[in-house]
Amino acid sequence: MKGAPPVAGRRLRITGVVQGVGFRPFVHRLATRLGLGGWVRNVAGAVEIHVEGPEDVLALFVGALGTEAPPVARIDAVESASATADGAESFIITHSIDADSARPVAPDVGTCAHCEAELFDSDDRRYRHPFITCTDCGPRYTIIDALPYDRERTSMKAFVPCPVCAAEYATPSDRRFHAETVACPQCGPRVWLEEPGGTERAAGDTAILLAAAALRVGAVIALRGLGGFHLVVDATNDAAIRRLRERKQRDAKPLAVMVRTLDDVQAIAVVSEREAALLRSAARPIVLLRPKATAALSAALAPGLDRLGVMLAYTPLHHLLLEGAARPLVMTSGNLSDEPIAIGIAEGRERLGTLADLFLLHDREILSRCDDSVVRVVDAHEVIVRRARGLAPTPVRLPVAAPEPIIAVGPHLKNTFTLVRGDQAFVSPHIGDLEDLEALAHWHSAYDRFRALFRIDPTVAVRDLHPGYLSTRLAEELGLPQVIRVQHHHAHIAAVAAEHGITSRVVGIAFDGTGYGDDGHVWGAEVLVADLAGYHRAAQLRYAGLPGGDLAAREPWRVALGYEALAGEQTRAFSLAYYGVPMATRVGAAQQLSRGVNSPMASSMGRLFDAAAAVLGVRRHASFEGQAAMELEALAGETRAMPLPFPILDGGDRLIMDPVPLLIALGEGRQHGVDVGLLAARFHESVAYAAAEVARRVAADHGINTVALGGGSFQNARLLASIEGRLTAARLRVLVPRQLGPNDGAISYGQAAVAAWRLIHE
Ligand code: ZN
Ligand code: ZN
Ligand code: FE
Repeated sequence: MKGAPPVAGRRLRITGVVQGVGFRPFVHRLATRLGLGGWVRNVAGAVEIHVEGPEDVLALFVGALGTEAPPVARIDAVESASATADGAESFIITHSIDADSARPVAPDVGTCAHCEAELFDSDDRRYRHPFITCTDCGPRYTIIDALPYDRERTSMKAFVPCPVCAAEYATPSDRRFHAETVACPQCGPRVWLEEPGGTERAAGDTAILLAAAALRVGAVIALRGLGGFHLVVDATNDAAIRRLRERKQRDAKPLAVMVRTLDDVQAIAVVSEREAALLRSAARPIVLLRPKATAALSAALAPGLDRLGVMLAYTPLHHLLLEGAARPLVMTSGNLSDEPIAIGIAEGRERLGTLADLFLLHDREILSRCDDSVVRVVDAHEVIVRRARGLAPTPVRLPVAAPEPIIAVGPHLKNTFTLVRGDQAFVSPHIGDLEDLEALAHWHSAYDRFRALFRIDPTVAVRDLHPGYLSTRLAEELGLPQVIRVQHHHAHIAAVAAEHGITSRVVGIAFDGTGYGDDGHVWGAEVLVADLAGYHRAAQLRYAGLPGGDLAAREPWRVALGYEALAGEQTRAFSLAYYGVPMATRVGAAQQLSRGVNSPMASSMGRLFDAAAAVLGVRRHASFEGQAAMELEALAGETRAMPLPFPILDGGDRLIMDPVPLLIALGEGRQHGVDVGLLAARFHESVAYAAAEVARRVAADHGINTVALGGGSFQNARLLASIEGRLTAARLRVLVPRQLGPNDGAISYGQAAVAAWRLIHE
């Protein structure tokens, strides 16, 4: 007769994103399946497990924790110690132990396949229930008021579960075991359709069907979604899109489209396997895809661009609306121009009343504003364009632990902020441009919510060098004992190095639109030798005047004028840049430039793209910053091309990249009838060549073999891939942004990394 195997015990502590993601129910199911006894509980920022059984089965259990964890969980570390077995026969979920410490909050999760199947199954009791969720999916961050994650600390507390839902919640074998958002048509939130002004037209399924019917005939609908309001129109209807653009005062910025299934995506765009996986991922971001020429979509969605933002439905309400409309829908943020998106019902009614024809509303409160995330795939990698819903607020590690809690307030435009405790950096979702009081109010409310959620009370503020930015004032007005200042492009490079855990010196290529330089000029095409402590500017783009200052970001011809002033006799090459610009305006700008009035000196890669677009006659006026650069990238496509002259000069203490010969060659080429796509491609290769060559020289001079790429210009896939390829060919290690994007959304994290280092070492 065989004796029972000896029983061993083990105590495990698992950290990462493990709360609010169905981790305890998963552990319960796994242990029960393997016949193990013990318990699981949430403790501050971690999950603790006591498990007992035969040694070999315990090993299976530990292995499966990593391989079978719920899709949204992210395990950072598993600590394991042996423990005394005390004869537990069953496995239970015990009470959470709460302690004062920072811990992750799970991001919102798109509707899972199980819930989607139930949603459209007429035999299911949640058939067409617009709030169907389970432990694997549904809202988290946007509805959580405090931790630990339990229903009474979410906006679901207003809805008392019916007996059937309560039974599901309590049944270990049920998919909704411990699903805090469990609800059904009997007990869940409610949806209704109303007119501007508040008159209710319909409720429940009828409301959704009526909204879908209105969309089919061109209506603009304000939809209260997951992280805020969307404005919705038929993506195949030109007139409806024009009306939306007029009302929203958004004339050319691309609009994202939502569809219901991957087949629907494939009908309108080319999708690689990697892109398909990204579209279907729990975060359900907007993915920038190449639209198909045959797609029945309005040409007004992304005029002049070769990419279209597409996302899959990520809530049951979206699924139902799309199913009813039976066509792709534009889903754009519910705001006027660049204001923060509306989230509350009263706020939505007030701010969107003149923008929408109808309101599709629900009564589950949105506690945290969260825009859609935007991602694109470059080669085999993902580049984050906007990090928000589904990605934030998952923490990003810092390579050093901050000795004091930090708030890094972030940049002036495309703001995010970062709260730090120890080596955990909680980067806020995209906030927007800090240019008006409304944006500031949004910043403060997001900041207060973050402080409460993560229980971090900072004593150190970090800000940009610019004395005049609202973000600077904001940092000073927090009234914290210490304020640390970090240069914008240093923050870009520090962010990339830090997310890769690098603290030694790197060569940093920082290419973007605008950042305030330590010499008071406008920087934006810099090569730095940097570590977290500081930087040295090893190379820059040659300075040119920007007549009109900030106006130049919207009027590329002004940038061309600044470079023309450096071109000596060869001014003819620039003539296409001014087509349609009134002579008096141009003469006025030229006078500003020659007298140095409102004409800051700039070394900006974003502006160089503008100048190139202007001399090529592609664009002289832009309706948003970066439009010209996006069009040049679209024109260049994948055309193979050789660089044009882009000399690297010795500027004494640094190298100078001189783009004037390049702009002359572009202008002359265009005037001689060379294909504009080819010239756009040669422009990209010229910039990539000069950047890689400068970085190679600087790296060799300093004995460094790692190059970090940061700044918004690296959202340009062709530029990123070409520079990366050239550097790799030169046997350099290349760091590119992965967890955060290359653009200013990463600045606050870079500021935090520099500040953490300085607090330790100074
Ligand atoms: Zn689900
Ligand atoms: Zn119910
Ligand atoms: Fe920047």
